[in-house]
Amino acid sequence: MAETGSQLPGIVVTGASGRMGQMLARSVLDNPATRLVGAVERSGSDWIGRDLGAAMGGSALGITVTDDAEAAFAGADAAIDFTAPAATVDFADLAARHGLVHVIGTTGLAPEDIARIATAAKQTAIIRAGNMSLGVNLLTQLTRKVAQALDEDFDIEIVEYHHNRKVDAPSGTALMLGEAAAEGREVSLEGVADRGRDGITGARERGHIGFAAIRGGGIIGEHDVLFASQSERIILRHVAEDRTVFAKGALKAALWGQGKAPGEYDMLDVLGLND
Ligand code: NAP
Repeated sequence: MAETGSQLPGIVVTGASGRMGQMLARSVLDNPATRLVGAVERSGSDWIGRDLGAAMGGSALGITVTDDAEAAFAGADAAIDFTAPAATVDFADLAARHGLVHVIGTTGLAPEDIARIATAAKQTAIIRAGNMSLGVNLLTQLTRKVAQALDEDFDIEIVEYHHNRKVDAPSGTALMLGEAAAEGREVSLEGVADRGRDGITGARERGHIGFAAIRGGGIIGEHDVLFASQSERIILRHVAEDRTVFAKGALKAALWGQGKAPGEYDMLDVLGLND
């Protein structure tokens, strides 16, 4: 028997006025397997109290944008959250309290934020990834394998390109790729990461993993993982053509998380790429 509308998983989108928030709301609305049940924005946003559809420039949807996350979370099965670290940790606490799946796309989280999310994940399923696209998660696996196969004669550099309004660097994706490269080499990224060079830095240290961040215009997100020796170069590259790749991944995660035991998961779990 087909599921009736009210039985479909109900999803709340946080940061609903944001670049990703609007994309996510549209994706949930367009997906026949999900219902959009709430749109949350921060207090003071001029979207509060407006109909989400009208605020996005379309027809009314009957969903009023709210800053009352508690009430919005109470009636939902999942929250998809691409906002900012300070908001995301509060949303994780709320998700734990209401037992709903929390999908976190927010990047730039500090270690203490990650620790708070881990605590919340003792009570509910939390799926977090610096990049929700299938392509980047495949790239992560490839990066790990190539780093494993090549020795330190190959310098590893991760170059990322994003739009000029991005506030954190390196990108969450660049850090995911750096972690994968470090895992492939069986070292801790913390001990070998070169995050930003300026001035007389000295020669590059063998075995280090370098990061460079380009910011310009409307670039959605591009990542190169460069393996460079004295005589050859391998470049693994991913280009996001539009933000729907992240929204599709996040929605997939929200559905995958239904009925999952409390704990921390990532997109490799969702995509079955962890084996
Ligand atoms: P954005 O356009 O600035 O959107 C963020 C939204 O969150 C804004 O509408 C912001 O409102 C809202 N917000 C901030 N604090 C809030 C709170 N306390 N409660 C509710 N809403 C709050 O940024 P974006 O480009 O969509 O990116 C958002 C995050 O997702 C960033 O961390 C970005 O790096 C990450 N991202 C991840 C992926 C992935 O695949 N994992 C992909 C793309 C982006 P105001 O503008 O009013 O402050």
